[in-house]
Formats: sequence, structure tokens, C-alpha cells
Amino acid sequence: MRAGPFDLAIVGGGVNGCAIARDAAGRGLAVLLVEQGDLASATSSASTKLIHGGLRYLEHGAFRLVREALIEREVLLRSAPHFIWPLRFVLPHRPGLRPAWLVRLGLFLYDHLGGREILPPCRSLDLSRDPAGAALRPDLRRAFEYSDCWVEDARLTILSARDAARRGAEVRPRTRCTAARQVDGRWRLRLEDRTRGEIQEVEARVLVNATGPWAARFLEEAVGTRPPARLRLVRGSHIVTRRLFAHDRAYIFQNEDRRICFAIPFEGDFTLIGTTDRDVEGDPAAARIDEAETDYLLGAVNRWLRRPAERADIVWTYTGVRPLYDDGATAAQEATRDYVLHLEGGSERAPLLSVFGGKITTCRRLAEAALARLAPFFPGAGPPWTARAPLPGGDFPWDGFERLVDELRARYPFLSGGLARRLARYHGTRASELLGDARRLEDLGEAFGAELYEREVDWMVREEWATTADDILWRRSKLGLRLDGRARARLEAWLAGERRAPPPTAVDVQARA
Ligand SMILES: Cc1cc2nc3c(=O)[nH]c(=O)nc-3n(C[C@H](O)[C@H](O)[C@H](O)COP(=O)(O)OP(=O)(O)OC[C@H]3O[C@@H](n4cnc5c(N)ncnc54)[C@H](O)[C@@H]3O)c2cc1C
Repeated sequence: MRAGPFDLAIVGGGVNGCAIARDAAGRGLAVLLVEQGDLASATSSASTKLIHGGLRYLEHGAFRLVREALIEREVLLRSAPHFIWPLRFVLPHRPGLRPAWLVRLGLFLYDHLGGREILPPCRSLDLSRDPAGAALRPDLRRAFEYSDCWVEDARLTILSARDAARRGAEVRPRTRCTAARQVDGRWRLRLEDRTRGEIQEVEARVLVNATGPWAARFLEEAVGTRPPARLRLVRGSHIVTRRLFAHDRAYIFQNEDRRICFAIPFEGDFTLIGTTDRDVEGDPAAARIDEAETDYLLGAVNRWLRRPAERADIVWTYTGVRPLYDDGATAAQEATRDYVLHLEGGSERAPLLSVFGGKITTCRRLAEAALARLAPFFPGAGPPWTARAPLPGGDFPWDGFERLVDELRARYPFLSGGLARRLARYHGTRASELLGDARRLEDLGEAFGAELYEREVDWMVREEWATTADDILWRRSKLGLRLDGRARARLEAWLAGERRAPPPTAVDVQARA
């Protein structure tokens, strides 16, 4: 790795750090991004995976955030139509909770606050006729339906980093920044390479603290300053069950505590249920779901479902920690989801920009706002550019996914329908680059199970910084839901260099005879 000097050193490889790295590199700045673990290993792979305005935030008067997020839905959808897609939400109505007029007003605002050109508007549903009613309790008669989008959160993060690297950024996962000090008006960073066990020092003009839940701790421990704002760390857990309903829409259920809970079709055969809001003390990395949260989530969906979900239906759980800017709200669910950028230093002292809060949905706008704040230090930097630029593999029309799958199958007829879809979802137009000259399934190398082949694993190692089985099975994909322990161990061994000899070719067999 070069020692710099970099224009920008970004600490934190979550969605915000990667979005800032991408934006800055595209403007011609020399960028370094360091992440202590895998890219997206913290909050940015543990979200509900919605690109959404946040219907609920309207109740808290967060109109600025909701409007920005609503506009951003279609900007992001157009930039990555492989792993972002429109999703309809069914909100059943029951007397005694929010009145129908309030829900209708909220949805009217949601449809009209800004930016909706592609996504269909809200509508009312008669649950006795609509297929969405079949999975719900028979006493439920009415529902509303509206649009948001689904996103593969970790892929958004990793492919933002990929794009940053393509534009010249140096991306260093498994590298922890342990100290950052000012020396002669520049930042000098101490980096610990956790793979090689090496320590290195680099220099940068500007430091960006994008460490998410660690933002305050990083300032105290690595930079040695007092955080300008307090972070409220709020844990949110999800459970994944076997599939609970047959259609492809999501439910948004109201709870009696005025929170809401989603039940979303997930990875074909599963349902994703979330989330909770619990204040966290201590290390964010240690946050795990507890029994009470599991009961809460099951209870939240079972008040609405005809056939209750049970503990035995749960196949996976995950927990993330929201790094929320502390605006003094009393209840965790009321704390603002908006982001705050704090800039210090400037004339004599090297600038330090800290990110507090933010959502997956607003990562691109947050990066633009960050670059706008830093513009005085980089007069030669290019203008904003990300609003119309596709992410890697996203250079096809927002409604062109089925065509992309068909083209892939025409070019590679040996692919099963399921594999062609999955490759198109993960890699978009780059799927054919990944498959290259393959003529038959055997050309893809060793099969690890669930149609994961050596060639794709190699690609994830080479192009997406994967090094462990977890990197591949839980962040670059969700194939961890389908592979058993033996298959995982085989993948781990393969990654450690234990590759099987390729099957003999006809020429080898003849030669041996
Ligand atoms: C339960 C839950 C549900 C959510 N649902 C949604 C949703 O549906 N839609 C939406 O838009 N948003 C959602 N969010 C919010 C969104 O996930 C987060 O706001 C976003 O992921 C935060 O990204 P980040 O980059 O700031 O933080 P992170 O992803 O946590 O990244 C920070 C990174 O910094 C690294 N780091 C820390 N210290 C150091 C160091 N010293 N050196 C190097 N690296 C370091 C960490 O390892 C970490 O990877 C949800 C959040 C939660 C918790």
C-alpha cells in the first residue's frame, strides 16, 4: 500500500464510508478507505434492506428526511436495478390503531412529497378478494398498499467500494485505524493490517470518520478529541422464518406500542421479520437478539397472520446497531433517523469530518453532502456525478431485469433458471464477465452446494475483497441460508488454498491410457 499523502482518508467501510469513497474518487481525489473487518460487516449488512422514505417518520415531522429519501428511492433504483427492486407493502387496517383517515393522509403525502416517477401510487385493498388477504386473519377487511424498494444492503456497500476502487481509491478491508494525529497540518494515521499483522503509517489532508456506531469512540480513542455530539446506539433485531405467505408483496403491521413491524419475502423461500428498538450499552459488535425480542417479533406478526409463526419456523436471526444522532428523544423509536455531518479544523488544523446517523437509503446524498462540506479544501475536485451513474453491473434499464436473465440464459444455456437469476441479481451485467468463456457447468469449477461454484467464489475474492466463508455466504450472498456445515467447511478450506485438482479432461484420460 502506498503511504500517501492521500487527499481523503476514510475510516469505516460501511455504506456511508464506501459511498463517500466512491463519490470522492470519481471527483479525482486520492482516496484511502480502511475497514477494520469485512466491508459491510457491521450495521450495513444488518438493516431491514429497504430503500424507503420511512412512512413512520412522517409522524415525527421528519419531512426533510422523508422527502430526500423518497426522491432517493428512484435514483438508487436506476443506478442498481440488479440488487434494488420495487416492492409493494400491504398495511392492513384494524379499528383501535391509527385511524384510516390518518393513514390515508400519510400515504397521500408519501405519494406526493417528491420524486415518484416509476413507482406506482398507493391504493386501497379489499382483503376478502385480494390474495394478500389469504395469509391474514379473516376479520381483517381493509388494507392500504404503497410502494418502496428492496435493496441488498451489503452488496450496495461492497459494489460502492468496487466502483471507488475502479476510480482509483485504495480500499483496505481488515485494516484498523488505531490512531490519527495532526502533524504539520496533515493527518498521520496508524493502521493495523489485521491479515498480515503489520503496522503502517499514512498521511492524508482530510480525515473522514465514517465508523457508524463507533463514531464517538473513534474520536475519543484514536483521535483523542471529545465527540461534538452524542450518539444513541439502538439495537434492531430480525428473525428469518420459513416462508409464511405465497405472494411477493410485503406486510407492514402496526403494533399496539405504536411501532411497526415488517414481514417481507426473503430469498425466495423465507420471510424476513423485523425489527426491534433497544438502547445498547457497551460494544456494538457484541449486540445479539435476546429471547424477549424474538417473542416480541413473533407476537407482532401473529396478531395479524391467520396461521401463527412459531419458534420452530425460525432459520436465522441477525442484529444491527443503529448509530443515531442523539436529539434527546425519550423513546428509541422516536430518535431521529436523519444524519448530521460535523466538520472541525480547517485553516491551521487538518480538517476532520464526522458522520453521525444516516440510513442506507440516503448514503449517496450523504456522500454528496460530505463532499460539498469538504469542497473548500479541494478546489480542483470535480462536480457531483453519482445521481446518474450506475453502480457496477447496473448499466441496464430499471425494468430490464427479466431481459438480462433471458440474455444470460441464451448465452449460457447450461445455467439453471435459478442460477441465471441469482447471478443477474448479484452481478447484473457483469455476470457475463464473471462467466467468461464457460461452455458447460463443469467449466465453473468446484461446486460448493446451492449452485455456488468456484468461478463465482474466485470472482468474489478478486473483485469484492472476500477472504472468509462468512464474507461470501452472508455478505456477498445469503447462501449461508442454504449451505450446511460441511459445505461451509469445504468452502473455508478452499479459501485457505486447499483446491481440488480439476476433473481430468478427455486428453488427460487418453494420455494416461
Ligand atoms: C435494525 C436496523 C434496520 C435498518 N433498516 C434500514 C432500512 O431498512 N433502510 C435504511 O435505509 N436504513 C436502515 N437502517 C440504517 C442503516 O443500516 C445504517 O444507518 C447504515 O448501515 C449505517 O452505515 P454506516 O456506514 O454509518 O455504519 P456501519 O455499517 O456500521 O459501518 C461503520 C464501519 O466502521 C468500521 N470501523 C469502526 N471503527 C473502525 C476503525 N477504528 N478502523 C477501521 N474501521 C472501523 C466498522 O467495522 C464498521 O464496518 C437500519 C439499521 C438497523 C440497525
